[in-house]
Amino acid sequence: MSKSRHSRIVEILRERLGRDKVFDNPDVVSLYIREPEGISADEMPDAVAFPESVDDVSIIASTAYKYQIPIYPQGSTTSLSGSAVPFEGGVVISSSRLRKIREVSIVDSYVWAEAGVRIDDLNVELAKYGYMFPVDPASSSVATIGGAVNSGAGGMRGAKYGTMRDWVLGLTITLPDEEGTTMFIGCKTTKCRQGYDLVRLIVGSEGTLALVSDAVLRITTLPENVVVAVAFYDKLSDLMETVIEIKSSRINPYIMEFMDSKAVAAAAGYIKPSIRAEGNMLLVGVDVNYEATERMLSTLRDIMAKRALSTYTAQSFEEAERKRLLDLRRSLFPSQVLNARRNLGKDNVLVIIEDIAVPPSKLVDAVEMIKNVSDDLGFDVVVGGHVGDGNLHPSIGIDPEDPAMTKRAHEWFLEVMKIAVKLGGTVSSEHGIGTLKKEGLRMELEAHGAAKALEIMRSIKRIFDPKGILNPGKVV
Ligand SMILES: Cc1cc2nc3c(=O)[nH]c(=O)nc-3n(C[C@H](O)[C@H](O)[C@H](O)COP(=O)(O)OP(=O)(O)OC[C@H]3O[C@@H](n4cnc5c(N)ncnc54)[C@H](O)[C@@H]3O)c2cc1C
Repeated sequence: MSKSRHSRIVEILRERLGRDKVFDNPDVVSLYIREPEGISADEMPDAVAFPESVDDVSIIASTAYKYQIPIYPQGSTTSLSGSAVPFEGGVVISSSRLRKIREVSIVDSYVWAEAGVRIDDLNVELAKYGYMFPVDPASSSVATIGGAVNSGAGGMRGAKYGTMRDWVLGLTITLPDEEGTTMFIGCKTTKCRQGYDLVRLIVGSEGTLALVSDAVLRITTLPENVVVAVAFYDKLSDLMETVIEIKSSRINPYIMEFMDSKAVAAAAGYIKPSIRAEGNMLLVGVDVNYEATERMLSTLRDIMAKRALSTYTAQSFEEAERKRLLDLRRSLFPSQVLNARRNLGKDNVLVIIEDIAVPPSKLVDAVEMIKNVSDDLGFDVVVGGHVGDGNLHPSIGIDPEDPAMTKRAHEWFLEVMKIAVKLGGTVSSEHGIGTLKKEGLRMELEAHGAAKALEIMRSIKRIFDPKGILNPGKVV
């Protein structure tokens, strides 16, 4: 963009919003162009705007419409799909000043909070009432409500509580049109039939349809207690047999996570664990009443130990923290960076994390196929994920300065998505489509004979965003 147009846009926004809400200093703007996997804009956007109210959001949307400025809503930019990166210049809209929790209603079972509230902060507030918001992406210490809603996030508790789409009741949205039209869609009641379900359309739309200023979210009670067991298995098939037995015993785990033996070894090298970490790891937590603690723990221990090399248990989450039973799983991502640095012998590495899901009954097949593809392409893959809902996060480390390796990594990414589709799964479970998975989305829809769905999505995008200025280039 020309310098004069850039200055004009910044000036207009400053006049309308206030000088302290629009920044164009490159040192500030450069903080908003990158995601953790290294996906980054080549050019700097013109400015970052910090709305403090729904009215501010509306002003930004109508100004962007009038002057045809691309706008990019952002929470904490922890997306792993390229969905929050401002690739085409314009203005980033940060939700960092929209941090109010407006209302907690225990009787009506909802919390109403602004888009920039972080999930952990929300849960600190809800815990005062004995309640929680159960969707818990591993990035929850920074991930915002607006980001989680728009990326359709899930987490460790996904097997029991699902993802964002199961917990959003209503949203205040603003459209990029002449008036910056703002409206509340959905309800504050759990049951809500408002014609077509626009709320669910926005959930997972990755900031391409509307700007979200606040959300009404369902909440649930904190469990009285959670018993925890960790076991290590020589063979993945033993681990899966154990998962099947747990499910068949009418146990509905609060969390159910796994890491393959390579992921365990990498994480063990990273945190120096307190337990003997060898083999494929299964981590299970089950929520119980205090009275049922002993019984549940002994049932769980019996099932998990049957085929295991070693098993460790805790009577409560607090005890599990003290024994550091959760540390290996928490280190799944950070340990990959160290692993990649060691394997590639350099500091500047890129860790690529996949996000497919397959029916849990197909997990062993999926892991085997992913390992074969990775071997063929010369990558040392590690696999971990949410075994309860079939969501896998295979990851590889690459040298971003090696064009041949980058090309092979692209091929690997595609092959892993093909495996998901082949096994009746999906190419993206919780990280979204962004720019990285557009090809995968097309492939999945075509495999289901639903190529037309993409046309329908593009038409919907045009209705919400006629000038194509809202987070352009993403999803469709
Ligand atoms: C270490 C790590 C672990 C992770 N673990 C998980 C996990 O377990 N489960 C999971 O689901 N994800 C996970 N993620 C991905 C990501 O953290 C989550 O999806 C998170 O919910 C994104 O929140 P955010 O505030 O960073 O959103 P951002 O990355 O800023 O934005 C995400 C998307 O939402 C849009 N958006 C943001 N705010 C708004 C708004 N107010 N209005 C309209 N659109 C908006 C953006 O344009 C973008 O498309 C992980 C990421 C990292 C780095």
